[in-house]
Amino acid sequence: MAKTYCFGLLAAAMMSYAACPQRAGQVTEAQPPLVSQASPSASESSSHYMYSTLENLCNAEDNVVRGGLVIKELVKMGMDYSVQLFEISGNNYRNIIAKIDADNEEHNLAFTAHYDRVDAGCGVVDNGSGVAVLLEMIREIKEKPNNNDLTFIFFDAEERGLWGSRHYVANTDDTFEAVFNIDMAGYGDSLMISGGVHNRRGEFIPTTEYLNNLIIELCNENSIPYILTEDKWTDNVSFNAAGLPAASVVRINSALPYPYPIHNEMDNMSIIDIDALASSKDFMLDILRRY
Ligand SMILES: [Zn+2]
Repeated sequence: MAKTYCFGLLAAAMMSYAACPQRAGQVTEAQPPLVSQASPSASESSSHYMYSTLENLCNAEDNVVRGGLVIKELVKMGMDYSVQLFEISGNNYRNIIAKIDADNEEHNLAFTAHYDRVDAGCGVVDNGSGVAVLLEMIREIKEKPNNNDLTFIFFDAEERGLWGSRHYVANTDDTFEAVFNIDMAGYGDSLMISGGVHNRRGEFIPTTEYLNNLIIELCNENSIPYILTEDKWTDNVSFNAAGLPAASVVRINSALPYPYPIHNEMDNMSIIDIDALASSKDFMLDILRRY
């Protein structure tokens, strides 16, 4: 089934790719969410915001420009932010950090997403969608009473080997009770939950079990299917490797095994499912409410 299905989608994706706005400013095949003329409902404006953020990220020339877009959105929201610069092999990178302080601190939590992409495709599934979800979370949370110290970290250079999160972990004295990373949020019907990874020395680095259990509980409550797996490397691993509590929310299409539309030309706006994006954002807010 996968191949035929893939081919069908591939053909569709290739057609839309030809028209994809990648660095060309054209309109893609997938239609932006409709917004009622009167006053858009909260969910309409939320989806519209995330979709237009994704379009901008898709059109961004490179990862420096993508980082600049994240900063521009934070500034537009009136958020203070800081930049953590680091250099590897003569190349400069920057993690972008924004904080929302608690009214009465109950918990100290972090939500993270990498904003860099690989060259193939325009990096909207991986991981513009996670970035759009984090920005929308900030947009919604900052307007409401909040009892948690929240740190939002947009990592650079995840695709190069978790460099941004590794640099952050090695250079921070933040003591988060939990870190929730989101990677791939813009399509699919299921979550992939990684129990941990094996490093090159064959050592097993477990994901924080009680955080995975919280994610599984919320999947069951929201009737979201999930698959349990291992050896999926994303930014929670940098924290887990340092013994810090972290887990990831990764959305996939259960009918099409990982790694389908990432790191290839299919990672473009035509694959984005606005309902999946909205569901991912609501899921992350559920985690916050539940924690
Ligand atoms: Zn990713």
